[in-house]
Amino acid sequence: MGLWTDQASEAQKPSEASLWKPQLNGAESNMACQDGLLSPESHPTIRRLSSATASFDDLHLGPSVVVPPKHMQEPSDAHETAAALEIAKHRMSVAGVTEGTSTPTTPPETTTTDSYAFAFDIDGVLIRGGKPIPEAIEAMKVLNGQNKYGIKVPYIFLTNGGGKTEQERCVQLSRQMELEISPGQFICGHTPMKEMAEKYKTVLVVGGEGEKCRDVAEGYGFKDVVTPGDIMKDNERTTPFRKLTDQESQHSRKRNFAQVEIEAIFVFADSRHWGDDQQIIIDLLTSKNGRLGTRSEKYDEGPPIYFSHNDIIWSAEHEHTRLGMGALRTSLEAIYEGITGKKLISTAFGKPQLGTFQFATRLLQQWRKDTHGINKPPETVYFVGDTPDSDIRGTNEYNESDLSENDWYSILVRTGVFQEGTKPRFTPRATVDTVLDAVKHGIKREMDRAIKKKIMAQSAVDGEAVIEEHPATEAALDRE
Ligand SMILES: [Mg+2]
Repeated sequence: MGLWTDQASEAQKPSEASLWKPQLNGAESNMACQDGLLSPESHPTIRRLSSATASFDDLHLGPSVVVPPKHMQEPSDAHETAAALEIAKHRMSVAGVTEGTSTPTTPPETTTTDSYAFAFDIDGVLIRGGKPIPEAIEAMKVLNGQNKYGIKVPYIFLTNGGGKTEQERCVQLSRQMELEISPGQFICGHTPMKEMAEKYKTVLVVGGEGEKCRDVAEGYGFKDVVTPGDIMKDNERTTPFRKLTDQESQHSRKRNFAQVEIEAIFVFADSRHWGDDQQIIIDLLTSKNGRLGTRSEKYDEGPPIYFSHNDIIWSAEHEHTRLGMGALRTSLEAIYEGITGKKLISTAFGKPQLGTFQFATRLLQQWRKDTHGINKPPETVYFVGDTPDSDIRGTNEYNESDLSENDWYSILVRTGVFQEGTKPRFTPRATVDTVLDAVKHGIKREMDRAIKKKIMAQSAVDGEAVIEEHPATEAALDRE
C-alpha cells in the first residue's frame, strides 16, 4: 500500500507485549553528552563539584563553593551549569542516594521522560472557533512539568489545517496556548507537500486567504506558483459570476496562460470560492497537459491533483460541524465524473494518511533530540484528536502498519467533531472529555505501568506474587 493512499485496513489491537516496554528516563540519555561538565580540575585551593564525588547535600542543599572550569565561565554558559546540576542530581537519585534528614531548599526537580510523548490535533482539541479550549492551556502546563510527578513530556502538533506558514501558525498557537511553540513541533496538512517541490515546476495552488498559500508554496521551494486569481486576471470570462476585487487584481500576476503548462494542482487550504475554484480546477483536469483553453479528447492528459487533507467536516464556531476540504474533493469527483464519465484519481495528504504519521514520527524524533537531547524513539506516542475518520483512523492504522516502530495510542476527545451518543467509525483506545483528561490519562497509564513493572520485579526477587496484594493498581490497569 502506498503511503499517500487512503485505503482502510482492518483494525487490530496491539499486542500486550507491545504495551510492556521498560521505562527509561530522559536525563539518563542526556548524560553521555553532558559528561565532563562537572569534572574536577586539579587546583589546590578551590573546591569544585564533581558528578563522581559530590554528595547529595552538595547538590541539593547549597550553598556550595562551585568554581566552574574556564569554559563554563562564559556568560552564555549559565544554562550548561544548571543543566549539569540537574543531570548530576538525577544521576544521584537513580543511584539511590538518600536525602537524609534535611529539607531540600530547591523545588522538586523536573525530568523529561524519554519513554513516551504526545501528539495533538489542534482544531476541536486545543482550539475551537479561533479561541482556546480552556482545558488546553492547563494541559500544556501539565506536560511542561506542572504535575505531581514533576515530569516533562515532549509533544508535537499534527493538524490537517493550513493556509499559513508553519511559523505563522506557531506564533498564533503560542499566543493562544500561552507558551512558546516552535515550528520544529508543528506539521500542517500541507507540510509534506514541500517534498513535491522538486518534482513539478509550474503548479496551481488553491485555497486560503489572499496570497498566503502562494507564499507558503514558494517558501517550500515551488518555482512557479499560479493562483486562480492569476487565471481570472488573464481571462475574466473564466468565472462568469465573480470578478476580482481591486485588491485581488493588484496581487494577481498577469501572464498568458495559453503558453503555460501547469504540471500539477495543489489544494493547500480550504477554498474561499468553491464554485470559481472548482471551475478552474475542472478546466485544468480536462485540458491537454495543463494548458488552459485546450480540451483533452479522452480526458486523460490533465495534471494530477493533490489535497492537503481529506476532512469532510471540521469543528468551527458554529454549533454544527462545517464543510471541509474533503467535501470539496468529494464534490469535484462528482463533477468530474459527471462531465467526463470517468473517475477522478486524486491524492490526499494529512491525516489519516500513513505518510503523514511517518513524517510526524521523524519530526518528533528530531524535536526530542534537538530540544531534550533524547536520541531514541519513544516507546509510546499518545495521539489526541477529535475526528474519528482522520485522527483515530490514522493513529490506529499507522500503529498496526509495518511502518510504525512505536505504540501509537489513540485518544478521542469530546470537544470537537465527535459528539456523545454517536458511535465513532474508528474506535479509539480511550475516549475522554477534554485534552486535559487525555494528558492525565496518558501520564497515569505510564505511571501505572511503571508501578506494575516495579512490583513484578520485586515479585521476582521475593519469589511470590506481590502483584495480587495491590488490587488498586490492578484495577487501574484493568480500566484500560
Ligand atoms: Mg480536529
